[in-house]
Order: sequence, then structure tokens, then C-alpha cells
Amino acid sequence: MPRIQQLSTSVVNKIAAGEVIERPASVVKELVENSLDAGATRVDVTVEQGGMELIRVVDNGGGIPADELTLAVASHATSKLRTADDLFQVATMGFRGEALASIAEVSRFSLRSRPPEENAGAELEVVGGQLSPITPCSSPPGTTIEVRNLFFNTPVRRKFMRAAQTELGHIGEAFTRIALAYPQVHFTLRHNNRAMHELPPTDDLRERIGRFFGPELADELIWLESRDEQVELSGYVARPSQSRSHNKMQYLFLNGRAIRDRALQHALSEAYRGLILTGRYPITFLNIRMPADLVDVNVHPTKLEVRFQDGSRLYSQLLGTLRTKFLTTDLTHKLEPVGAAATNDDPAGAHDPAIALERRRELVDWAKGQLASVAPTALPSGNDYAAPPVTRQPVLDFAALRSQHAPLTVNRVLPPRGELRSDSVPAPHMSPPVVASPSATPHSALPTPHLPTSRALQLHNRYLITESAEGMIVIDQHALHERVLYEQLREKVLSGALETQQLLVPEPVDLSPAEAGLVKEHAASLAQVGLNTEPFGGDTILVTSYPAMLRHFRPAEVLRAMVDQLASGNRQLERRDLIDELLHMMSCKAAVKAGDPLTPDEVDALLEQRHLAQDTHHCPHGRPTMLVFTKEELDKQFKRT
Ligand code: ADP
Ligand code: MG
Repeated sequence: MPRIQQLSTSVVNKIAAGEVIERPASVVKELVENSLDAGATRVDVTVEQGGMELIRVVDNGGGIPADELTLAVASHATSKLRTADDLFQVATMGFRGEALASIAEVSRFSLRSRPPEENAGAELEVVGGQLSPITPCSSPPGTTIEVRNLFFNTPVRRKFMRAAQTELGHIGEAFTRIALAYPQVHFTLRHNNRAMHELPPTDDLRERIGRFFGPELADELIWLESRDEQVELSGYVARPSQSRSHNKMQYLFLNGRAIRDRALQHALSEAYRGLILTGRYPITFLNIRMPADLVDVNVHPTKLEVRFQDGSRLYSQLLGTLRTKFLTTDLTHKLEPVGAAATNDDPAGAHDPAIALERRRELVDWAKGQLASVAPTALPSGNDYAAPPVTRQPVLDFAALRSQHAPLTVNRVLPPRGELRSDSVPAPHMSPPVVASPSATPHSALPTPHLPTSRALQLHNRYLITESAEGMIVIDQHALHERVLYEQLREKVLSGALETQQLLVPEPVDLSPAEAGLVKEHAASLAQVGLNTEPFGGDTILVTSYPAMLRHFRPAEVLRAMVDQLASGNRQLERRDLIDELLHMMSCKAAVKAGDPLTPDEVDALLEQRHLAQDTHHCPHGRPTMLVFTKEELDKQFKRT
């Protein structure tokens, strides 16, 4: 057996370097963080060959006294911690005292520094961990660190480095994260003598976001703010029209440090559910501030992940803040002028060509529709279009329900909400309680003085076209109806009026072992939303009662939808999410389909309901419910301006 021996400092530092310094971007991150800890108001970063040749960071911070230079590059030497207790009160970016030691171990390193109160600076060089003597030098106040030939003495590491362009990409990302967290600091980034970022200090986070990602995104941001006794949340989230195919644009900052947190990302997806398409990710720039002792930042080598003392509370605060904001914000999709130049700095491609194409196609559809209906009042009732497609869910008899004046059917299940006008007169073919017919209450919300009725056109049994004060609105009838139903049902459920339906013969449902386990674990939550279950031996679950609103679904189907939700929501499953799942199922199945012909009264009733829903801008599955062509845009397109 080989003897146990203490490792040399050099080996220890190389091991530490392996954990902290993965690639040039890690050096940039550590050095810039040190500058910020030193109180710098300006930080200039220069890199060559993706940082493999040179990384230079110059700051105007507090500097390091000459007699402490050697300590700065010694391992476990820091000015930021004194006792173990301090570990739980960390207010600085660094605290472990290993970054400079690690970097100096695997590069040709030079450190020049001058505290502002000194007349001259001092310089120290370290090559592969070997220190040369400290020499005086001239230096502006602050610190300059140069790192050349990173990993020159660790060939294996060096091999793992990618093309300069790739490494530069990582540097750009590290730089972006820090610069977004500190808008009040002046940052610059140069690569091979080319200026990549010049970021003057600002008090306005939006301005900094604009510098990185262009005005298209900066103009589409919503400000958020909330605070409980201990946690303060603030920052911007992008409107649903701005989304990405990846989640890298979900910037989360905890006490000024960029972090990744699966649970918080899940909260973001939840908040945007129904507002953006599945597979797309929202964009956020959110700052979380909390007392340092409520979070452990010492659980990850680069501090990218942290451990919250009360993660579920933070989750709820984030989700709640976003949901409240979205309910009070007009998220209506504004159509871009066709052919507008797509200018964007975002390398990830903010302008999704697929979406642009879709928008254009929708416009073409609309134009064709206009030509097709020369006589706008002759709405097709006995129409010559294809018959409505057979519903894909043969078990559910919504086709029958729909045939009785589809848009209004569900209102028979749900009484109308309180804010309905009392002078509403039901249309003749509806049984009360129903939504007011627009012939009794004309669209007062849509000022249309020159038209006797503001009835919309139905085109292709699919789109409704109408006008508002702002311009022209094209509505997807299925998407709007689905959303309206969703909002109505949600209201009802949140007010606690969810009846259950007892099954005369309880229905056994066979599940996988994992699924059955989930149902047993969450039996109480399921019961809360009206789905009562009992174990039935093995992996079979017995459904004894389920929500009466879902009586048109088979109990097994309801249970399976719930199980899917349980399986996907893993961590912080809330009763609200379960309810959401129910509502999605119901509203989608119950809504009129594209291809369903609607009578003029039904069209108007549907439009009238548009104003009853709190947030009818997107159908629950994320497609837009309506497109707004503003008068200005139309004028522009017709070259009137
Ligand atoms: P840590 O940041 O965890 O303390 P580092 O190895 O990154 O460890 O830095 C060691 C020490 O060197 C710091 O605690 C700080 O006192 C000093 N230092 C490093 N960079 C700078 C800088 N840019 N300006 C002033 N002091 C610095
Ligand atoms: Mg540090």
C-alpha cells in the first residue's frame, strides 16, 4: 500500500483550479467579481483568442496594499471572511480565497495594484504557481490583473478548451450575467482589439438590457416588484410575445449574484403557462434580495447554485407576483408590420423565422378571407364549407353539447358573474342564466359610432374579424372560447364552489407503480379538488368521486390527467396547479372548434364574453387568441403615413 502523504500546495491549488477554473470564462467571472467586491465603479475586460492568450481585467476599486500582494495569491487567503460564522453572512461575491491562487497556479499571472491612498503601486508575477519578488511600479488607483496562456502547464485541461469563438461565447455569457446584475457599474469588453460591449453606468436596468439584447426586447418588458418581510423581488419579465426556445435568458440574481435554480425556473414556466407555446421559455431579469443568513451560497464550486432555507415560500412569492401582474396587464399580441426589418443583437435569434412566417400566413389568410366574403352581411349559416371535423375524443360527447349553440353551452353550467349588467336580455334560443346578447347590449366597450351594429365577420368558420378603438382585431374563435371558458371556470373554482359527483360504481384505474405512488402521496390534494380515490390493491386506484364539472369525462381520464400533472410538477405542487390542469382539460374540450359554423348571435355572444374574461389574450395552450392590427400599422402598410 502506498503511504498516506500530505499533498503539496501546488497540487492542492491545481485541484482547486479544476473545480473553480473550468475555462477562460471562469477566470473572467472570478476577476470581475473581485473587482466588484473591491467597490469598483468601472471594470474593463480585455481578452485575446477567446481568453486563451490573454485575459486582462482593470478596475478602479480599493486596490491591494503592497505588503498583501503575496497573500492575495495564496490559497485560503481572503479579506472577506474571518470566522466560520461569517460563512453564513456572506455579503461579498467571493469569500473562499482560492480564485487567485488557482488561476496563478495554471497560468502566467501578473497583478498590479494601488490603493487610492498610496502614491505608487506594486506588482507581482506568478508563473505556474512560482512567485517572483514584488516590485514597485506606476499604476492608476485600482487593480490590474493579467492572465496569459491559461492552462499552459496543465495540458489535459488545455485540450478541453474549444475554439476561440466558443470560449468567447462563454466569456460573453459570464460578462453579461454580471453586467446585468450591476447596471450602475461601467463595464467594457474587448476581444482581439475589437469593442464588444461598452456599457455606461445607469440606474435603469431596462437600459442595460437594451444594450445587450436590443430595443425590441427592452420595449417588451414588464416591471415587477414584491416584498414580504424578508424577501424582496424586483426586475423585468418579457411579454409573452418574446420567448425563446431555450431557458438561458432566464436571468435570476440572488443578492447580486447570478444563480440557476430549477424550482424558480419551474415557477416561471408555471406563471407563463398558457401565455406562451409549449417548448418556449420566458425571458426574465429578476433580482431577489434576502438576508444572507436565509440562503447558503457555499454549496456549489462556482456558487451558481444556492440552497434556500425556505425555497417553497420563495417559489410561491415568485409565482404569485407574476400571476397577479399578468392578470392586471394587457398582454394583447400586437402584430408587427409585415416586412419590418428584423434587427437584433441577440445571438440566440430573437426573431424566430417560424413565428414571423406564421404571422405572415395569418395575414394572408385574413386577406383571402376578405376577398371571399364580398357580401359581409351574408354570413354562412347553411354553409358550403366542409362539415365540422369529427371530434378527436370520441368518448366525450361534446359534439352533442356544441350542437346546442356551442359558445353558450357552458354558461348553463356556470351562472354568469356578478358584473353582468342587470338589463341583460337573454337571446331567444338561450335558456337562462346566460350571457347578454349583444343585440340587447351593443358593444359599448367597442366604440363604433358609424356602424349600426358592430357584429363581427366569421371567416372560414374559424376567424372572427371586428374592430376596436385601436384598430382591427382578428380572433381565433376556438382559442378565444377556450380562454373564456378557462377564465370562467377558474373564477368559479377559486371561489370554492367546486361540487363533486359521487360515482355509484367506483371506477378502478390501473396505473404504473410510480403513478400509483404519486396518487397515494397526493391523495389529500386530489380530494381537495374533488377527486376522491382509494387504493385498490397493487397499482390499481379506485376513483370514488370526481368534480361534477367534469361529468362529461370518464373518471379514468380525469385521474390520468391529474397524474400527468403530479408527475410533471414534481417539486412544489400546489392545489392551484391541479385546478389549472382541470380547467385546461375542460375548456379545451368544451370550446367551439375551428370549422364550427356559428350563427351571428353566437358570434356576438362570444365576442361579448371576451370582455368578461380577465385575461383573454391567449388560449390556455399558448396560441394567441387574437391579433390586433392597429390603425397606425394599417396606415403604414397602405403607405398612408
Ligand atoms: P476571495 O475573493 O474569495 O476573497 P480571491 O482569491 O478571489 O478570494 O482573492 C483573494 C483576495 O485578494 C481578496 O479577498 C481580496 O482581498 C484581494 N483581491 C483580489 N482581487 C482584488 C481586486 N480586484 N481589488 C482589490 N482586492 C482584490
Ligand atoms: Mg474572489
